[in-house]
Order: sequence, then C-alpha cells, then structure tokens
Amino acid sequence: MGKIAINIATGSLQQKEMIVGIDLGTTNSLVAIIHPQDRNPQVIKEVMGNSLVPSVLHFDKSGEPIVGDEALKYLLTDPQQTIFSVKRLIGKSYNDIRERSNFFTYKIFDDQTERLVKIQVGDKFYSPVELSSFILKELKSRAEHILKTPVTKAVITVPAYFNDAQRQATRDAGKLAGLDVLRILNEPTAASLAYGLGLNKNETKTIAVYDLGGGTFDISILRISDGIFEVLSTNGDTYLGGDDFDDAIVKFWKEKIELEKSALKFSENNKQEFRLKAEAAKRHLSLHHEFISNVDGYLIKISKSEFENLGSPLVNKTILCCANALKDAEISITEIDEVIMVGGSTRIPLVKQTVGQFFNKKVNDTLNPDEVVALGAAVQADILAGNNKDFLLLDITPLSLGIETMGGLMDVLIPRNSKIPIRTSRQYTTQKDGQMGIVISVFQGERDLVKDNRKLAEFKLSNIPAMPAGLPKIEISFLIDADGILNVKAKELRSGVTQQIEVKPQYGLTDKEVEKMLLDSIEHATEDIQTRALVEVQTEAKQLLDVTKTFIEKNKTHLLNEEIIASEKIMEQLEILIKSGNKDEIHAAIEQLNEQSRPYAERFMNEAIGKAMKGKQV
Ligand code: ADP
Ligand code: MG
Repeated sequence: MGKIAINIATGSLQQKEMIVGIDLGTTNSLVAIIHPQDRNPQVIKEVMGNSLVPSVLHFDKSGEPIVGDEALKYLLTDPQQTIFSVKRLIGKSYNDIRERSNFFTYKIFDDQTERLVKIQVGDKFYSPVELSSFILKELKSRAEHILKTPVTKAVITVPAYFNDAQRQATRDAGKLAGLDVLRILNEPTAASLAYGLGLNKNETKTIAVYDLGGGTFDISILRISDGIFEVLSTNGDTYLGGDDFDDAIVKFWKEKIELEKSALKFSENNKQEFRLKAEAAKRHLSLHHEFISNVDGYLIKISKSEFENLGSPLVNKTILCCANALKDAEISITEIDEVIMVGGSTRIPLVKQTVGQFFNKKVNDTLNPDEVVALGAAVQADILAGNNKDFLLLDITPLSLGIETMGGLMDVLIPRNSKIPIRTSRQYTTQKDGQMGIVISVFQGERDLVKDNRKLAEFKLSNIPAMPAGLPKIEISFLIDADGILNVKAKELRSGVTQQIEVKPQYGLTDKEVEKMLLDSIEHATEDIQTRALVEVQTEAKQLLDVTKTFIEKNKTHLLNEEIIASEKIMEQLEILIKSGNKDEIHAAIEQLNEQSRPYAERFMNEAIGKAMKGKQV
C-alpha cells in the first residue's frame, strides 16, 4: 500500500516533491521553484524579502561557518577566515590560479601531491567542494524553511565553459549538502529557459546570453532547435565584473580628494567604507542622476555621466568579447534572434544601451537579471519533476571520447559535438588464445594516436573464460548522462562478465586545453592519417603472424615440410618489416604470406566444414 505524504507543519497533503533550482554564483547564490499553484517560477526570499545569498563564508573559532550577509561584514575585519569567490577555485589546481593568487585574501594551500586546491582556515583545510556545500546547505535550509517541506533534489547551474572536473565537483558539493543533484545546467541555457526560449518545440533560434556579474563576465552564443540547446561558443573575462566598476569609483574619489589636498588619507579602516559607498553609488546611479554622501565626514559625490565615463572602458572590453564569441561561432550579428541580459551588473543603463547597440536589438531585460538563472533552473527542475513532460534539454560534448585499440590507436565511440545524453557501444574481441582479461583505456581528444590525446581512465575486464582468440564478444558501451558525466561499461557477451566505471576526471581540462587539442588535431591531420595507416597494417601483420604460427604448430602433421619452411621464411621477413615501418612493404608481405598459406588453409577449411556438415546432418 502506498503512503500519503502529509506536510507536518501545515497539516495539508503534500505536493509532489519539490525540486529546486539553484544558481550557485561567484558573488551571489539563490534558489528558486515553480510555484505549485500558479505554476510561475519564483525565487525564494527570506523574511526581509531578500533573495540573494552572498556566496561568502566566515569561520569563527568553533569552525562552524556562517554563510551570506552575516559573513559579508567579516571580509575586512577577518579576511583570513572569510572565504569568497569559491566558485573560482572549484575543480582547479594551484597551477590554474597561481597567477591570480593575490586576488584571494585567504590562504590557498598548494599541495604538490594533490592536484586540487585546498583552503586553509585556522588549522583546518577545506576543499572548494566542501565550502560550496556550506553555501548549498544554507540555500537548502532557506528553501525548507519557506516551503515547510524537506528539499532533497536540485538542479544546479554552472557556467557553460565549466569542464568535467568543475561540473563533477559542483555535483559533489550538492551531494555533500544532502542534495540529489538531478542535473547540472549551463547558466546561459537556464537564462534562456527563464525567458521561455526553447520551450516551443518547433522553433530554431540563435541567442546571445550576456552575463555580467560581480567579478566575472561571460558571453555565450546558443542555438536552440527542437528543444536542444547547443553552445556554439563562449567567451568572456573571468576577472571583469561589477567589482571593477566599484574600484573605478573609489579611485575616482581618491583622486578628487587628493586633488583637493584634503587631509583625508585612505586607510585600512575606511577602505571598506569607500568600497561599500562606491557600490551604493553605482546602484543608485542605475536609477538616478547623482549620488551624494560622505565618508569620515568628507563629502563624496559622483554624477551619472562621470560614472559612465569611468565605466565605458569596462563595458567596451565586454563588447570585444562579444565580437570574438560571434567570430568563434561563425555567426554574424544579424543572425542573433535574442539577446538576454544576466547578472546584477546589467542593471547599469550604460551596459544595456551599449549591448543593445552592438547587437542592434532590444535586449531581454524584463526579468530580474540576478534572478534569471535561478528561475531558469527552476523551470528545468519542473521539467525533471515530470510536470512538463514534453521537454528534454540537451547539451553537446566538446571533445571526442574513445578507447585505445591495437597499436595505440584511438577508436572513437562518441564523436565530438555529439548531443548528450548519449549511449553507444561497439564490439571488440581478444587477440590471444585463452586471453582472460583486457585493459580498457578511455581517452578524450581528436588525434589518431592515443598518446596524443588525454587519458581519462583505465580499467580491466578480467575473468573472461578462456576461449580461442577472436571468439569472445566484448561489448564496450559509453554512456554520457545529461550532466556530461561518462560511464564506461565492458561486458563479455558470451559469459556475461561485466565491469564498469564512472569516469570522474580528477582534474579537468581548461578551455585553453580543449582549444589546443582541437588545433593540434587539425595541424597533425595528414601526419595522423599516415601514422594510423601504418599502425593498422602493422597490427594486421602481427595478428596474421600470430594466427599462422599457432596454425602451423597445431597442424604440423597435416602440412608438407616445404609448406612450413616457405611460410616461416616469409614470416621472418614480415617480422623485420613490421619494425622497419614501411607500410607498403608490410602490406606486400602480408599478401605474400596469405597467398602462400592459402592452399593448406583451404584444405584444412574443407575438412573442417566437411566434419561440421556431418555432425549437423543437413
Ligand atoms: P554573480 O553572478 O557573480 O554571483 P550577480 O549576478 O549577483 O553576481 O551580480 C552581482 C553584481 O551586480 C555586483 O557587483 C553588484 O554590485 C551588481 N549590481 C547589483 N545590482 C545593481 C544595480 N542596481 N546597478 C548596478 N550594479 C548592480
Ligand atoms: Mg551569475
């Protein structure tokens, strides 16, 4: 008998379980749902009406972190114990952030043996996964408080350029926070969904998603067709955002004050105050024409046009990125159907104007830019909850995935740019009689030889029952789930022996690396084809040698002496040729050996068939 769920707090019958959408941001995080009654997406607000949770943690002596607005004030007073911008560290090694290590006021631990960074707080070490999980826990408990029901399932968004390691780490953070992460969703895809784009099955649209947040800028060009979201290109600047506008205002005031030869000196004490005032000024100027206030009794002011002068070089930088993104996507401005504004900093009128001018289009800005990603995540969550059955959202793989076959060749099972989720399989067999195990090495990349690609994983299928070479049927299947996580399974079909692994790259590829791998594959294309051809013929030759040797050994009594001697002579030669590496010569020797062994092979075959026919009594 089924159970009926009752909401203990309200006594009402419980709705189908709510799946929440979470925007885990660099500066701010938030959680949203589809309202069960009016079916509209909405963010979850705390009692004071605030939906944004600053992605900041403060650790006090107890070692228990506080998250959000409460932690914010410790940024200046207790910088070593106050962690911000965790998102910049997730799935990264120390080498990845070495150049930017000054950016972080807390201690990032460079553990040479362990490739992923840790953060040191007091005498404790935390991984970015753990730190992110504290933020997610806070969001989870806020949602539970407001919804008055346990929240255990979520969709979490990440930037489109996040690699496997960063996605996996985000998923792990969710798990650690007690959330079953049903989907990792690209932020620009989420923003499009919030605007209802892609929900109409028959439409094909090209969309630019312009996301200017607190510390990062991302531009993504998406193509939506038949409900499939394809990321055509991404570009941006990981160190350009609202903070830079604040800095520019502080600098402006500082110069003014020094110009007026004021006695006011910038000190550690008022530095933070100036920054806070600058941010307040920036927000104020999004709606008004002048900002006037004071710090330490000194008058500070800035007009909208002064602010726009400061801001325009920053905005122009983002426009340059937009142009590059279009170039990479091989798309012209006129082909863009919609421009979507995301991130708190797109509230700045100058940003909207400049972006609108560049794309020559009215931008989509009717939804709150700092909520739109979370709202879209909620739309996706609702689809996954089965409330919106018509839709399935897909992404694509950036690089080909395959396994190593004989001679170190890359055998691609999932080509680059395949739509995910995807499942494919292919059959392989053994090369040696009685071979009981095979090693499966999984690689990612576009080159023909695995040594030029990146190894993701290796595992062994063992306990295959002893069979003659070529008889076992080993099916290798690749499954990439909707989050882009690869599962590899090997099964010997005759015996049912199975082995599988989830490929969790401990250390993912940066955008640069992906790009380099693609460029390499183009640059070496001709060379690769030649190498592949040689390796293939070498492999064929080795197999033929093996088979012929075994055959001769087994059937010595049935063969003529001169047949054996002639074969062995060619075999010796073939062995030398395999090493010398001339494709055509090897090929010729293979032909020769085949030719030479054909008569006795045929004799043998006829006998075998004869026997088999007798047995079968046709
Ligand atoms: P992230 O995606 O990086 O977590 P958000 O999208 O929440 O960040 O954007 C935060 C940034 O937006 C901050 O720099 C904040 O100052 C800026 N911001 C928020 N509201 C406004 C506004 N009204 N005018 C200008 N900037 C704003
Ligand atoms: Mg954001």
